[in-house]
Amino acid sequence: MISGQPLDGTVAVAITCPKCEASGTAIWEAEKAGPCLVSLSGGFYERLAKFVPYTLEIVCHTCGTRQAQKSPI
Ligand SMILES: [Zn+2]
Repeated sequence: MISGQPLDGTVAVAITCPKCEASGTAIWEAEKAGPCLVSLSGGFYERLAKFVPYTLEIVCHTCGTRQAQKSPI
């Protein structure tokens, strides 16, 4: 899947961990309230940030590094 390609209102973004080079794909969907992360594949998971405003962050499952990737929408 190509990074940034629209797909039925969703955008697929390739993720590569800067530390261990694990790769995966995040699927974002444009919602009225803001971009919504709908799917993660590969070795990544999402969690709430530890600090206010507790936004979602994407974390590498292999090495635990938080990804700097922001919403593409
Ligand atoms: Zn990693």
